Amino acid sequence: MAEKKIPKSVQDELTGLRAEIEQHNYSYYVLDNPTVADAEYDRLFDRMLAIEKEYPQLVTPDSPSQRVGAAPSEKFEPAPHRIQMLSLQKVTKAEEFADFDRRVKDGIGKSSDDNIEYAFEPKLDGLAVELVYENGLLTIGSTRGDGTVGENITVNLKTVRSLPLRLSDKSAKIYPLLEVRGEVIMRKSEFARLNQTQEEMGLPPFANPRNSAAGSLRQLDSRITASRPLYFYAYGISEQNLPGLETHTQVMDFLRAERFIVNKHIAVAKGIKDVEKQFNKLDSIRADLDYDIDGAVIKVNSFADQVRLGQVSRAPRWAIAWKFAAETAETILEDVLFSVGRTGTVTPVASLKPVRVGGVTVKSASLHNEDELKEKDVRIGDTVIIRRAGDVIPEVVAVVLEKRKGHPEPLEYPNNCPSCGQPIHRPEGEAAHRCFNPACPAQVVEKIFHFAGKGGMDIEGLGGKLAFQLAKKGLVVSLADIYFLTKDDLLPLDLMAEKRAQNLIDAIEQSKDRPLPAIINALGIPGVGETAAVLLAERYGSIDKLALAGVDEMNDIGGIGPIVAQSIAGFFGPEENCLMIDRMKKGGVKFIPFKSERREVAAIAGKTFVITGTLSKPRDHFKKLIENAGGKVSSTVSKKTDYLLAGESAGSKLDKATKLGVAILDEDKFNMMID
Ligand SMILES: [Zn+2]
Repeated sequence: MAEKKIPKSVQDELTGLRAEIEQHNYSYYVLDNPTVADAEYDRLFDRMLAIEKEYPQLVTPDSPSQRVGAAPSEKFEPAPHRIQMLSLQKVTKAEEFADFDRRVKDGIGKSSDDNIEYAFEPKLDGLAVELVYENGLLTIGSTRGDGTVGENITVNLKTVRSLPLRLSDKSAKIYPLLEVRGEVIMRKSEFARLNQTQEEMGLPPFANPRNSAAGSLRQLDSRITASRPLYFYAYGISEQNLPGLETHTQVMDFLRAERFIVNKHIAVAKGIKDVEKQFNKLDSIRADLDYDIDGAVIKVNSFADQVRLGQVSRAPRWAIAWKFAAETAETILEDVLFSVGRTGTVTPVASLKPVRVGGVTVKSASLHNEDELKEKDVRIGDTVIIRRAGDVIPEVVAVVLEKRKGHPEPLEYPNNCPSCGQPIHRPEGEAAHRCFNPACPAQVVEKIFHFAGKGGMDIEGLGGKLAFQLAKKGLVVSLADIYFLTKDDLLPLDLMAEKRAQNLIDAIEQSKDRPLPAIINALGIPGVGETAAVLLAERYGSIDKLALAGVDEMNDIGGIGPIVAQSIAGFFGPEENCLMIDRMKKGGVKFIPFKSERREVAAIAGKTFVITGTLSKPRDHFKKLIENAGGKVSSTVSKKTDYLLAGESAGSKLDKATKLGVAILDEDKFNMMID
């Protein structure tokens, strides 16, 4: 098929869209300061994809479309590093760092009284990678591998939205070849969210953020990588002799200006006392950081001195990793309890003799699932090693077999739910056991708690303790029962006085008006959180239509994957959930139909409007209407303007539009168009 001729206006629009999308990426992922609503971002992105689909010859390696991943590859090709990626020697004590400092001074002929200038930075616990920019364009991204040869994971790395696909033109000219090195990590908060979804879907959770970052990055299907929240933190470049870059801190400033994420805790430290001070400071804030670090990296700041010091085997003489004391501890496993989650997942939890790990006392740790339990073969009374990474739930790493006393029995997974006593089973292909009894008290407690939460029905005063009482007394078995509670039901409960009971009744009353996305979220369908709930509400508009939606149809909604679509259909399949929705309606929940403000209007989508003159409502009102319909509003009339919306006493803009032959609309015509 012959390629379509490309109109200049299309090329211009595409260039504009790409710049705008990358600017939003930068604000969101690098500056942590979103500048656009998700829906608007999606609109820009979809428009760009539409153009690229029509004119495939316009797809470039640095187009933001390359960030969504591509079809799976068979394997990763080897990627040799032009300059070896060295590994660092490690120290754990101040005295050992002092030895390093002495060797540095000897190496560059400084006296023992001199204070060396060091660049001090947190050592991120992620996966080291190298990005090669040729003439400004990201051409190869690879893992560290053995330091000499890594794996080519370019397609996957491009999906990491915080890393630039292209350098500035100026830098591309000065540095036709630039190899940037850094660490790909997953943030703790996002790791927790990812694991929650994994568990809800019955998939095995990841052990820690590092594992999940490494696993996500080495997916043969880069679309999976694209769906994972990964960040690239630059920590250096491969060379020490590039023009204008004489110290490590200058490189960091340069990379920051080139829109890389550079860690904000990087500092200059003069001499060992200062380094020690920085190290202690870092240790004290480490629990508050949203990413795992395992120590600090300290580098001689001057490149000239680095070159003079050189390297020994595969480690530089000018840098060292100072690691925190290990965050593992030994303790006794006193018992294994099985807890039941909101979706019925039964999880083994180790009950431990309290032990200090990484600054906190740990009394329990997750054992994840049956496979983990079998693999680790922990038994009651065993001495076990506990690891705690940041504020992630502590886990049992291994049993110290030499310390096992007697012959404890291997642990058996229970056959029955610890809460309701009904048989539990492990569905085909899932890692987790589940209790399928919808009236299971442990699940009901978790369901009520989730249902009443802020992002759900927002019933103030209905917390965990009250949920427990309601479930235990059998007052709430199905979520719909909440809407039939009376003051007489509540008053006999613990700590329930007249006033509190009335407040709760009022809060329940108010929740009947909650918008559809909140209700969908509140239902606790596995895999459906706040974001998916909005997408579903926008697509279906009512709970009844959603209940009838097919799997394929839901799968077509961007942002809803096949597993989640399956899960939604599964939720509305059983009769009891449909009856529950009916009872909620009878109980007064309004299920107000949801009307998305954003509805693309073909006549307006992609068109540029200018608004002028006095209209019946403020200009912002019309601006919003146009934007929700997929159009753009600009402030000046140009050849690119498609329509001028002109009210009373329009002035120079009307003249200019007339001169340029821009179509002019009055309010009536505009209203017809938008309807
Ligand atoms: Zn149960």
